[in-house]
Amino acid sequence: MGSVFSYAPNRERKDVPEKYKWDNSILYESIDDWKKERESLETKIGVLKSFDGRMCENAGTFYSTLRLYFDIYKNYYKLADYSGRLADEDVRISINQALNQQSNILGTKLGEASSFINPEILKTDPEKIKNFFNEVKELNEFKFYVNDILRLRDHTLSAREEQILASAGMITSTADEIFGIFDNAEKPNARVTLSTGEEVELTSSAYSKYKKADNRADRELVMKSTFENYKKFQNTIGANLAGKLRGDYFYAKNRNYKTVLDSSLNGNMIPVSVYENLIKQIHLNLPTLHRFLKLKARMLGVDIVHYYDLYTPLVKTVDFKYSIEEGQKLLLDVFKPMGEEYVSTVKKAFDERWIDYIPTKGKRSGAYSSGAQYDYHPYILTNWTDDFGSVSTLTHELGHTMHSYFSNKHQSFVDAQYATFVAEIASTINETLLNDYMVNNVKSDQEKLYLLGSYLDLLRTTIFRQTSFAEFELELHNRIENGDPLTGEEISRMYYGIVKKYYGNDEGVSVVDDYVSYEWAMVPHFVNYTYYVYQYSTSLIYATAFAEKIIKEGQPAVDKFFNILNGGSSDYPIELIKKAGLDPLTSEAFDLTMAKMNSVMDQMEEILNKK
Ligand SMILES: [Zn+2]
Repeated sequence: MGSVFSYAPNRERKDVPEKYKWDNSILYESIDDWKKERESLETKIGVLKSFDGRMCENAGTFYSTLRLYFDIYKNYYKLADYSGRLADEDVRISINQALNQQSNILGTKLGEASSFINPEILKTDPEKIKNFFNEVKELNEFKFYVNDILRLRDHTLSAREEQILASAGMITSTADEIFGIFDNAEKPNARVTLSTGEEVELTSSAYSKYKKADNRADRELVMKSTFENYKKFQNTIGANLAGKLRGDYFYAKNRNYKTVLDSSLNGNMIPVSVYENLIKQIHLNLPTLHRFLKLKARMLGVDIVHYYDLYTPLVKTVDFKYSIEEGQKLLLDVFKPMGEEYVSTVKKAFDERWIDYIPTKGKRSGAYSSGAQYDYHPYILTNWTDDFGSVSTLTHELGHTMHSYFSNKHQSFVDAQYATFVAEIASTINETLLNDYMVNNVKSDQEKLYLLGSYLDLLRTTIFRQTSFAEFELELHNRIENGDPLTGEEISRMYYGIVKKYYGNDEGVSVVDDYVSYEWAMVPHFVNYTYYVYQYSTSLIYATAFAEKIIKEGQPAVDKFFNILNGGSSDYPIELIKKAGLDPLTSEAFDLTMAKMNSVMDQMEEILNKK
């Protein structure tokens, strides 16, 4: 292409042409307008407080409270989105950081001022609330929201008890803090000398880098030394983790749940059987992972892969170059299977400056999509570096942006914000389409192998590895809930058993060396989150299955998929997925995904056999 604005380090924002920056002016014409809105919201929050204690007096006060609350909420989102993105443009500008802090303070005030809503709804006779809905038609907009609060009645305690549980957070957050300080700051790291003579301290970032090393002895040394270093602290880290698990159980039990799993999934009404089905189906499909491990051995030229070989890429990186314009043009083609409305909306995002592309001094790193401002359009922040990664990041974020755009368009603000469980389906399906498109359109076998190989690595880490984590998490919680003791040594034994099973150690598929037992101790997710990582697997499995349906069935499958894109939180995630054409309790999504993984391996073997 002719005049291309290519990547350069250390660029200043003022030197970037407007067309590569997002256009904030549709939200507020000036900072003064923003400040006026902030003041007006502050006043309205004061009015909202005046409904405390009398919200459920009659249908009128009930409606007025909810109307006011959601109107404030909607404008607060717009306000906070604006200042947050302004702050991200250049973190060195302190006026913008101060603006963002003002939003945060306002958010806290809104949270406090509205904290009476749930308890007041719950202590009111359900019949009385039902009658409110019959009396005032406009209340219909809040039906799903109110019903969801009522649904959790059995798990909501008295105001005093809720206060006690909330203040227990100061104690139960300790495990997370301890792990963070230990792992990032105080833990002594192992030191190794690589085959090049280079001496390396194995910090977590050094581990991430050198576990991919080309030299086999180096990557073995790096993994072995890192994991064995954790072994020295396994009982300390284990006791800390057990404390976190007991904290989870403390909340679940006191909220009248049998298990932590029940309590975690109930927030979005996800049946426990979805979790169990994930583990069961992945067990049934371990032979597909094992085929991948054998293919990996063949491509690496070794007899059998060891666990330390897993992060070495199957194929050396291929240099794909994309300017922003070339990336945009490519994506408009990639999204064709999603139908005309999808493509024309993506084009609007390009033409109407929804996206901030260029990395500049002080700009926030990484990428995100923000669909918070309901009456306008979503925005994307990204850092374009003219490579394939830039294209695939943009396609991912565009998935979130389209999801927000269509949900905002089709749902009232009250029902527009979607759940995490469906969010990553909308983004991941785009990455799948991009990958398919590329495989079908690149010229050389080498490029094709590279794309197929990275896709397989993605399936291995996101589907199989994350499900093994999900299974491990479930076993950990089971131990605590059964009242069994849990030491670091025991945790290592459990972890080792699961990894050996997944990677076919006993069947001679791969070798999981004994020091892999201690890997769990370096994974922050186990102590930071509760039943969260399984969603990485389910999202990719459902997204792959939806993409397969869309490619095979065309428009009818697209129309169904729009039930997710348009759906926001108008229904629970599982119901939205069912409306979109997949039943998460069956094997369909798994069958389609594994068939796809096998066909990718067929394609790779075909190319390899030619050589
Ligand atoms: Zn995402």
